[in-house]
Amino acid sequence: MVQQASSLFPTYARFPITLVKGEGSRLWDDQGKEYIDLMAGLAVTNLGHAPEVVKEKLVAQLDQLWHVSNLFHIPNQEKLAKLLTDNSCADAVFFCSTGAEANEAAIKLARRYSQKVLGENRYEIITFHQSFHGRTLATLTATGQEKVQEGFHPLPEGFVYADYNDLASVEKLISERTCAVMLEMVQAEGGVIPADPDFVKALAELCKERGLLLIVDEIQTGMGRTGKLFAYEHYGIEPDIFTLAKGLGSGFPIGAMLGNAKVAPAFSAGSHGSTFGGTPIATAAAIATVEYMLNEKIPQRAAELGEWTVKTLREKLADNPLVEAVRGEGLLIGIVCKQPAAELIAEIHEAGVLVVSAGPQVVRLLPSLVIPKEDLQKGLDVVCDVLARKASALVQ
Ligand SMILES: *Cc1c(COP(=O)(O)O)cnc(C)c1O
Repeated sequence: MVQQASSLFPTYARFPITLVKGEGSRLWDDQGKEYIDLMAGLAVTNLGHAPEVVKEKLVAQLDQLWHVSNLFHIPNQEKLAKLLTDNSCADAVFFCSTGAEANEAAIKLARRYSQKVLGENRYEIITFHQSFHGRTLATLTATGQEKVQEGFHPLPEGFVYADYNDLASVEKLISERTCAVMLEMVQAEGGVIPADPDFVKALAELCKERGLLLIVDEIQTGMGRTGKLFAYEHYGIEPDIFTLAKGLGSGFPIGAMLGNAKVAPAFSAGSHGSTFGGTPIATAAAIATVEYMLNEKIPQRAAELGEWTVKTLREKLADNPLVEAVRGEGLLIGIVCKQPAAELIAEIHEAGVLVVSAGPQVVRLLPSLVIPKEDLQKGLDVVCDVLARKASALVQ
């Protein structure tokens, strides 16, 4: 597309591609070029583009009722909350529209619980360097990356940063102010860095011992992405609070904050709210998504396909001097490169496959969890071919 003067804020470094149609794991641009989609709208379209099961429920709901205020009962919300709590360690759900909003709710609930139960000065949340939790003032402060915070000072109080996978660094930060520890099970934006199982187990123990809440941000790792419905299940722990958004509505905006029976009573009528949180339409999309994932064992498919993908990439890229490592969990996979990822990604796009970066040197793959294996194979071939070509250009 010819770039004209835009009336949008320049908040995104957009790729020079305009996508106009999507079906399953294929996308088409305004020039009619076809792409294999290995990024799924950044872990959103986990069931592919325009999945029939979700579309049917959405269309039926469009005919019935779009929006009512949360001052009324909304049966779809009850149904979705029951589906989520029946299939997780949570007992209660608050619905909102985005990931940042879900994390805001988690932060508010953690503070309110701690201040009610433990005392007024308990408000500080320990998060981690290289984490990502969102773009609102509280969630960008929770995010342990200066580049996300730059220019937005003064930041809200109450966040301190430990080193990921380093328990001693967490212990050092615990004080009489601490109320919770918040983390991702795989630091996704930070470079596809999985949490170490021993670290997570010890952290959960530590939180119990010291009376701190454990908050897990499952916004990217949840909804089957890592090979379980929720990534914390890999670690044999149960967070007090966890958050969802991205994949929950298959592309329809919906977020959720889930808490256990201990923290649930800390919210009461009036303590939190959201106009668009859990509308009949948004919850219809999410019910269809969750039901399909459970009925068709989609997380298990993601686990199997993810394992195969990592193995395939490791074999094909073993001798590539540009590649340092391939890592990930399920279908959240990073190819760690020894050079900036941006240029590699531009060439992969040119070759007809859509991928995205995670930090400066990681090429991230987030295919739909229902991608046909042949499409995935083709996409991986293209990625590996581009990396091989770049490597041989380097040698010459
Ligand atoms: C994307 C993301 C968010 C923010 O979600 P938005 O819907 O963009 O507000 C928060 N945490 C993690 C781990 C994410 O990947």
